[in-house]
Amino acid sequence: MTQTLIGIVISVLATWIVAHLYYQRGTKDLRKIVDTLPDSVARTLAQEQRRKLSLRELEDLIHQADAHMTEFGLFPTKCPVCGGPVEIHGDPGSEYSEPAAWPYCPRCDRDL
Ligand SMILES: [Zn+2]
Repeated sequence: MTQTLIGIVISVLATWIVAHLYYQRGTKDLRKIVDTLPDSVARTLAQEQRRKLSLRELEDLIHQADAHMTEFGLFPTKCPVCGGPVEIHGDPGSEYSEPAAWPYCPRCDRDL
C-alpha cells in the first residue's frame, strides 16, 4: 500500500516537473520569436482578423510578409532598408555559447 502511494506521488511529481520545464522553455522560445519578429510580420499579424490560425495558415501569413521561419526565429527574406536579398549568418556555438543565427544584408553590409 505504502509503495503504491509512493509510486503515485513520484509519478505525479515527475509529470509536474516535466510540464513545468516545458512551460518555461515554451515561454522562453516564444519570447525569443516575438523579440525577433520582423516588422512586416508583426504588421501582417496585427492586421489579421482571424483569431485562430492553423500552423499552415500562420506560415502562409509569414511568407506573405516576406519572412520565413527558422529554428532561431523568424527572419526576413528581404532587407527592410534596401529590399535586397538577405543572407543568414551564423555562429555554430562553442563550449560556452549556444549556436546562433541572424539575418544579414550584404548590400547594406549590416546585420538586420
Ligand atoms: Zn539592405
